[in-house]
Amino acid sequence: MHYDVIIIGAGYSGLAAALRLREAGKKFLVLEARDRVGGRVHTQQIDDHTYVDLGAAWVGPTQDRMYELLKERGITTFKTYDQGKSTLQFDAGKVKTYKGLIPPLPVGSLLTLDRAIKRINNLSKSIDPAQPWRADQAQKWDAMTLQAWLDKNLPFRKARELFKIAAESIWAADPNEFSFLHALFYARSGRDLDTLMNIENGAQEERIQGGAQRLALKMAEELGEAIKLNEVVVSIDQREDEVEVTTRTGNYWSKKVIVAIPPLLIPRITFTPELPTNQRQLFERMPMGNVFKTFAIYEKPFWRDKNLNGLAVTNNGFTTVTFDNSPEDGSRGILMGFVLANRAKQFLNLPDEERKATILDSFARLFGEESRQALQYLDHGWAGEEFSGGCYAAFMPTGVWTSLGSNIRTPFNHVHWAGTETATEWNGYMEGAVRAGERAAAEVLPFV
Ligand code: FAD
Repeated sequence: MHYDVIIIGAGYSGLAAALRLREAGKKFLVLEARDRVGGRVHTQQIDDHTYVDLGAAWVGPTQDRMYELLKERGITTFKTYDQGKSTLQFDAGKVKTYKGLIPPLPVGSLLTLDRAIKRINNLSKSIDPAQPWRADQAQKWDAMTLQAWLDKNLPFRKARELFKIAAESIWAADPNEFSFLHALFYARSGRDLDTLMNIENGAQEERIQGGAQRLALKMAEELGEAIKLNEVVVSIDQREDEVEVTTRTGNYWSKKVIVAIPPLLIPRITFTPELPTNQRQLFERMPMGNVFKTFAIYEKPFWRDKNLNGLAVTNNGFTTVTFDNSPEDGSRGILMGFVLANRAKQFLNLPDEERKATILDSFARLFGEESRQALQYLDHGWAGEEFSGGCYAAFMPTGVWTSLGSNIRTPFNHVHWAGTETATEWNGYMEGAVRAGERAAAEVLPFV
């Protein structure tokens, strides 16, 4: 029951921290609340060959640690299907298809859209992702939402709408909810806005063969009995040279603790002594996004025969962004539609049958009547998950980065902070989770 380090949470961050401690020969324990590892990454098997990623799915260039961990374990990746034309529909207007990255919008809208993206990329270069609150214009940018900036800088409605859909698909939150400084920080942390939005050369470039949870399961297998599932941590008691961690079922002791759970969930744990006030307020002010992934599974990816790539953008209906999520060999067709931000809040209130009907209606509008012939429909919302509290990740409302943000990684006596929300690179992504876990392990190693 006595360890060098106890890690709380067996998502990618906790698992990555644990592997580092194992390499260093330390005695450690990972306590995980759920009955599975992976956290916000959860692959559901449909049949022997077919699976869906209910949570995270994609990896892309510069996510180097994820690629290394995958490679070391012989897990391969494959390109996201993007051959053929994409689909666009505004309001109840005509469904249009287009090739490449430039949607069929009036020239004025396209120009302002392009200018806005370039401007955000340029402004984000002035941000140090390790301390966004230090940027020259941090106070000004943190005082406005991304939406306020868009209202000022994107005069054309269609351009603004399209940007809003893109923003919601990056943050799973309404641009009214988070600060412009946070948007700049996030873009910087993931390279730039284009990288966050795109398939090719972007964060959606590849999927993991067998599903995104496969790596987590493999890491957990290597860690063996050092992981305890169904252990909900309820209190952390710090003494001079020892920490007592209490779960709903037992007590454990260690020299150091790494907390690798979403920030919003941290204040649910009782700390003795209490969390420093500024740190507690910071965690309490980091709400999580809101997202449903919806899936329709078909005999074949029929849209590919029409030269469509399954990628659609629309502001009509609940799902605003869709992807082809079929297995690499196309042995089944899978359309995945995101329901994001405020739409996800309304979607949550619909009965199951209505959810299915409205999503299949949308797919039929975008890809043809065959969309109604789904072999199976399923969806998964993350806001209701007790041990996630929402997804994809936490965001910063106005004023939070500049008033409290500097507390984000400050150790609290023997307690150190991991989790993707503490990452400086690829914050909000699996890559950020891994890097944050490894950083927290490096912090505690000299002391154990
Ligand atoms: P988590 O995965 O949240 O792990 C925290 C763990 O702590 C959980 O297992 C939880 O059960 C456990 N826990 C919580 N409270 C307690 C407690 N009191 N005691 C013990 N254990 C506790 N990222 C990408 O890179 N690519 C994508 O395509 C992508 N898409 C996404 C799509 C969706 C729908 C979602 C939900 C997320 C997506 N993400 C994506 C984000 C990605 O999943 C996360 O950034 C990453 O998995 C976070 O890992 P983590 O270890 O920091 O946190």
